[in-house]
Amino acid sequence: MDNSFRDIFDQYNWDETLSSILTKTQEDVLYALGKQKRDLEDFKALISPAAKPFLEQLAQMSRMLTKKRFGNTIQMYAPMYLSNECQNICTYCGFSFTNKIPRRTLTDAEILQEVSFLKEKGYDHILLVTGEANRTVGVDYIKNAVELIRSKFSNITIEVQPLDQEEYESLIESGLYAVLVYQETYHEQEYKKHHPKGKKSNFYYRLETPDRLGKAGIHKIGLGALFGLEDWRVDSFFTALHLKYLQKNYWKTKYSISFPRLRPHSGGLEPKVEMKDKDLVQLICAFRLLDEDLELSMSTRESEIFRNNIVNLGATSISAESKTNPGGYSVAPQSLEQFEISDERSTEEIVSMLKQQGLEVVWKDWEHFK
Ligand code: SF4
Repeated sequence: MDNSFRDIFDQYNWDETLSSILTKTQEDVLYALGKQKRDLEDFKALISPAAKPFLEQLAQMSRMLTKKRFGNTIQMYAPMYLSNECQNICTYCGFSFTNKIPRRTLTDAEILQEVSFLKEKGYDHILLVTGEANRTVGVDYIKNAVELIRSKFSNITIEVQPLDQEEYESLIESGLYAVLVYQETYHEQEYKKHHPKGKKSNFYYRLETPDRLGKAGIHKIGLGALFGLEDWRVDSFFTALHLKYLQKNYWKTKYSISFPRLRPHSGGLEPKVEMKDKDLVQLICAFRLLDEDLELSMSTRESEIFRNNIVNLGATSISAESKTNPGGYSVAPQSLEQFEISDERSTEEIVSMLKQQGLEVVWKDWEHFK
């Protein structure tokens, strides 16, 4: 391998990157739209303000490329929160260490109860989520959870604290398929402001997590930034840069991108930089035009109307009826959520909406052969 991502990332300057995006012209956008294979300079043009008048064209191209590669399908998944214990302070999260909330970590029996609820609904792809509390929900707890449910789901993904390479190898051995690890923001100083305490305050340990995952041989890595903390265009450019680096170095691994925008929670942080619905559509389409094979995921953070539209413009997987509190489906429905979801429709309602739009709902697309 030539360089680590950190070596590449450190060559960039935030303000210069912003300026290089803001100064893209309509000619740059037309040039990018006309190409078969687009690079990161084209991506900058497609997310720039100059591309706004071309949104309809972007959306049509994104829709066409998504149908060409994925057909008329959409993948369903469900998040399952296992614990809200956390030793980090994150300014935007309801589970932050200093928030005085009742803490809960699911037992084996409670995990299985939640699993029964989700299996009943038809889910076969599951996303396990925990806070970062090493003593209670460290790698042993996660490993136990994966092993406990591996026979019930064909695809297990985690969104937990960043781990070391050997720990990922051990979890893959237990049946882990994918890991989501969002950088939150690639702006190092802003990152430090939003993560003042705990292991997560180490910007570079988080930045290098996808490298450790690639080395561990994970099947899929999910990237993203939390929009609202900093300029969404620059954070998206660095996400794309990260993606391209990883694809080059860990080419056997698949990749997905998520697009979380700040949602209300008990800490009440307001977005510093607003990202409008149209901006998010532009971004999703730009990622599709950058990479036809990329999985693009849409959570229940977004509104009904937004999700109804985006499923036909580029998104390839979607969650429904999500609970963002441990035990939220069946064990402790009233406990505090990590953030408020926006689309509260049931799984059945989402499936019906997707079918009405002519989409085939996919519950399972992977089998873990041992
Ligand atoms: S975002 Fe994650 S690490 Fe930060 S406080 Fe919330 S659960 Fe903990």
